[in-house]
Amino acid sequence: MVKQRILYIPHDHLNRAFGVLKDADPELDTVVFVESQRMLTGRPWHKERLFFLLSSARHFARELQEAGFTTHYIQAPTTLDGLAQARNLVGDLPIHCAEPSSHRQFAQLKEAALVFHPNDFFLTARPLFMQWAEKQKSYVMENFYRAQRVRLNILMQGPDPVGGRWNFDADNRLPPPKNYTWPSYLEHERDSIDQQVAEQLGFQPTKTWATTREGALRQLDFFVSTHLSGFGPYEDAITKENWALHHSLLSPYLNNGLLHAEEVVAAAVSAFETQGAPIGSVEAFVRQIIGWREYINGMYWFLGEDYRNENQLGATRKLLPLYRDSSKTKMNCVKSVVQDVEQRSWTHHIPRLMVLSNLALTTGVNPQVFLDWMREQFIDATDWVMVPNIIGMATHADGGKLMTKPYASGGAYLNKMTDHCKGCFYDPKKRTGDDACPFTTLYWDFLDRHQDSFKKNHRMFQQMSGLNRLSDLPDVRIRAAEVLRGLDSGSI
Ligand SMILES: Cc1cc2nc3c(=O)[nH]c(=O)nc-3n(C[C@H](O)[C@H](O)[C@H](O)COP(=O)(O)OP(=O)(O)OC[C@H]3O[C@@H](n4cnc5c(N)ncnc54)[C@H](O)[C@@H]3O)c2cc1C
Ligand code: SF4
Repeated sequence: MVKQRILYIPHDHLNRAFGVLKDADPELDTVVFVESQRMLTGRPWHKERLFFLLSSARHFARELQEAGFTTHYIQAPTTLDGLAQARNLVGDLPIHCAEPSSHRQFAQLKEAALVFHPNDFFLTARPLFMQWAEKQKSYVMENFYRAQRVRLNILMQGPDPVGGRWNFDADNRLPPPKNYTWPSYLEHERDSIDQQVAEQLGFQPTKTWATTREGALRQLDFFVSTHLSGFGPYEDAITKENWALHHSLLSPYLNNGLLHAEEVVAAAVSAFETQGAPIGSVEAFVRQIIGWREYINGMYWFLGEDYRNENQLGATRKLLPLYRDSSKTKMNCVKSVVQDVEQRSWTHHIPRLMVLSNLALTTGVNPQVFLDWMREQFIDATDWVMVPNIIGMATHADGGKLMTKPYASGGAYLNKMTDHCKGCFYDPKKRTGDDACPFTTLYWDFLDRHQDSFKKNHRMFQQMSGLNRLSDLPDVRIRAAEVLRGLDSGSI
């Protein structure tokens, strides 16, 4: 039969049941993937990340071929060149695509006059989120999350939340446990496609990340059976004994399409309903998916394209050398987190927020420079998720549109939630002196530098009162200047 449509599948729409493939017909449709040179070499991407994205797409292309689709995996200088090549190969047919996941790609593909289908890779359609956001005075995630629970009827008993509470945070957020046996992690064996991609990139990947739907489903099953019950209590802890704690390691698959949020949530809820998984952990996990993930995606589209350029704290510092090279710091917590990123292109939420971002925030690293680095390094980084997380949550560069106060903390928080301070060259309790913890010094210096903005924010009242009570502020300022010089030169 004569083909009628070209279906373009971006590298983050890898799912037969969603997007433009949902109603695809192997008789009438030709499927096209484009691996653009810009995607490979446009930035100094972490090779683990590139490996994951390319190998997943190539596996998926092969699966579609095996399912009877005519499939072209095109390597081209840019996506638009690749789509032009597709038309040369297949004929001048309309190109269909699900709405892309970033502003930039959307604009680019609009120029090429593609036919767009609604993006259903999330549980909340973009217009539905807009309706919610337009009615809000402030965009509080918790309010959105509760509305999602009701709308999607997840963990509900009639109008009430199962377990009698919307949120079990008060029981969670424990520090790392002592004498605890952490369950193991899955390893994903490599096949010939993986090996081809690894050779092309000149890189030996770890076995951390699956590159097929089958592997992603195995990861989901493994998380639910092995880690879900312990997820809640230790979700905010960091320990040098274990790099992932009870986190799911599912974000890469949720973000490239190999898994859909619907099935991930269903698996967690079923573990609660049929296998006795504790509500405190199941609720905490479900909140991440139907709450945070959907909220961040919704806000990305709601806040618009210019949001990424916000820099309301006027932060201008260059990227600190320690981000690109873990040997450039003596700070135990930072070194260990950067080493994790170097090794696997991943750390969990709290190292991202309270270590990497906290340092960028309190040293005043330019938010766009920090955003670029995070985008390049993380396995699960896509524009829609990095932009609000970095510009809003991590660096407070949006003046509080997303989060009402900055996530800045001194060494005391890290001393409580990590086991890195013991044995560190620095002392989390000290804010002055050669062995003062840089986080502690910089926390006060940050509040001091931004007094004018923060004193207008009632949620910062307690912190600003603390600052006003500091008797050694002049010494803190002197030490902070030394710390900043040391971080800039990679000697702190
Ligand atoms: C500064 C910063 C940058 C981040 N960048 C990314 C990113 O590029 N890609 C990404 O997927 N997540 C990002 N996150 C959110 C979160 O850190 C990761 O989703 C999580 O660590 C992934 O590991 P996991 O799958 O084991 O997550 P779990 O802890 O097991 O959580 C389950 C799922 O919840 C979702 N989730 C939780 N928090 C968020 C959030 N704030 N935003 C969006 N989804 C969330 C993810 O899909 C995650 O897989 C970022 C957070 C911060 C603070
Ligand atoms: S003392 Fe400070 S720098 Fe060292 S591990 Fe603790 S928080 Fe990190």
